[in-house]
Amino acid sequence: MSDDAPRHDTAALFERTAVHDAPPDEPLRASEAVRIGETLKLIPVDVDTVLDVGCGPGKLLARIDRPHVFGTDLGRVGLRHAPKPVVRSSILGLPFADDSVDLVLCAEVLEHLPPADVRRACAELYRVARRHVLVTVPNREQLLEASHACPACEHVFHLHGHQQSLDADRLRGCFPTEAPALVRYAWKVRPYSPPLLRLRTRGLGLWKFSPHTFCPRCGHAEFENHEARPLYKVFGALNHLRHPTRSQDNWLLLRIDKPRGEDAP
Ligand SMILES: [Zn+2]
Repeated sequence: MSDDAPRHDTAALFERTAVHDAPPDEPLRASEAVRIGETLKLIPVDVDTVLDVGCGPGKLLARIDRPHVFGTDLGRVGLRHAPKPVVRSSILGLPFADDSVDLVLCAEVLEHLPPADVRRACAELYRVARRHVLVTVPNREQLLEASHACPACEHVFHLHGHQQSLDADRLRGCFPTEAPALVRYAWKVRPYSPPLLRLRTRGLGLWKFSPHTFCPRCGHAEFENHEARPLYKVFGALNHLRHPTRSQDNWLLLRIDKPRGEDAP
């Protein structure tokens, strides 16, 4: 990607496609319902104010039952649907004072940022939080599994704009060591054997498909769905033999509890 390419591929993706153009009360997929349920369980009962950073159309916002809940997102399309007060902003410059919100939530956002920005984003969440930061991300995601190669320019990109794979150590390391951390996982998936995955994708050119995508490098938007091809299915079956069970934790949930300062009330 060139130096002058847009920094926020994902924001562009959500502005241009229908992914975030949906009301927040649409039924959730089973896996999503589990993740959201586990996320809500990590919000302590005495929390009054919650800020959801990267709230999109507000699926999570709509389900947080606290006196003061609001959100922020870079994408205009999602914010049109938000069920609670929202403001448009980047995660790298939140328009809120230090220590101003009991709990700052950031769900399924950090993986979309350029890797060099993740630490800055976490510092910004931590700055605004008075007591807790609650982050969820895909856990050790195999990026190639949900990627596609552009037939026009050959650029390989993640279908949902994920730019990195995160794990508990990496995420924990983005917050001060003196702040206690709580780690949880939600939903199990079947891992994909890395050699099989490389052969299917880079070797045979069979890639996962999404109807909501375009190449972030050249803008090409017509992609073939390879998932219906017999060979794609053969790889799925071979992987099933290699990994008979859903043994991989799909989502990582991390809550950071900010130590109270000497003069805190
Ligand atoms: Zn392209």
